[in-house]
Amino acid sequence: MESEDDMHDANDSAEDDFYSGGEAGLAASDDGDADYDFADHDSDDSAELISHRQQQNYSILSEVDIQRRQEDDINRVSTVLSISKPEACVLLRNYNWSVSKVHDEWFADEERVRKVVGLPEKHNEMPNDREVTCGICFESCPRGSMSAAACGHPFCSTCWRGYISTAISDGPGCLMLRCPDPSCAAAVGQDMINSLAADDDKEKYGRYLRRSYIEDNRKTKWCPAPGCEYAVEFVMGSGSYDVNCNCSYGFCWNCTEEAHRPVDCATVSKWILKNSAESENMNWILANSKPCPKCKRP
Ligand SMILES: [Zn+2]
Ligand SMILES: [Zn+2]
Ligand SMILES: [Zn+2]
Ligand SMILES: [Zn+2]
Ligand SMILES: [Zn+2]
Repeated sequence: MESEDDMHDANDSAEDDFYSGGEAGLAASDDGDADYDFADHDSDDSAELISHRQQQNYSILSEVDIQRRQEDDINRVSTVLSISKPEACVLLRNYNWSVSKVHDEWFADEERVRKVVGLPEKHNEMPNDREVTCGICFESCPRGSMSAAACGHPFCSTCWRGYISTAISDGPGCLMLRCPDPSCAAAVGQDMINSLAADDDKEKYGRYLRRSYIEDNRKTKWCPAPGCEYAVEFVMGSGSYDVNCNCSYGFCWNCTEEAHRPVDCATVSKWILKNSAESENMNWILANSKPCPKCKRP
């Protein structure tokens, strides 16, 4: 899992471009429900080439595909569990975007799941007074200008905006935001972000949400090619890890290094480690030695 974390950092700048890049209309991917055909892989090369199309065990996802899939998943969970879309989104994020995991956990013990992710079944209203005290700045404000999560703990809009903004600038953890009351675990979902946060924070939150859908999902990864905007969804347990991205980069889905079949990932990582150590030695030699006085070579 370390390699995934590394990828987050490495991809940060690339994705900023990614999400501001408008429509990436080059989607060449199939819908998720395509019929995959996992033939055995010990066939000879020519046979494998011919059958390559139908045994492809991954799909390349463009920005548009990613957004559509995420919305589909949220809609599905929202419909099946009869909860709001922002609630479905909180649930999916907590279970790493696995629809089946959400369904399994929910139907096994809904009460426990609601508690863990902070979605109380019964929504509490704010105190029914004309003026309500904010739990952060302790000012009394008209009830109508205050907001609360499902728990009913009231905060003024200035305090909410500050609270949300701090969480968003702290990173993708804002996707699991809870009520500001330290003793309360009620979830703060995208609906509240959209009604309370500043515009650039709403945008950032949306970007984190889409990134999370790829990065926290066990079935998907970003293509590691620099500047590439595509993600790859891989069907686990389906033989070769070789992936050819629409950007033409070929890589191993398992270790995200350049495609290296038939050598296994562990051997490749040892080899890369050895190579980088050697090139560091070489840099040191170049930096610390004088050219040979006779032939002028280092
Ligand atoms: Zn306040
Ligand atoms: Zn609360
Ligand atoms: Zn790519
Ligand atoms: Zn590999
Ligand atoms: Zn010499």
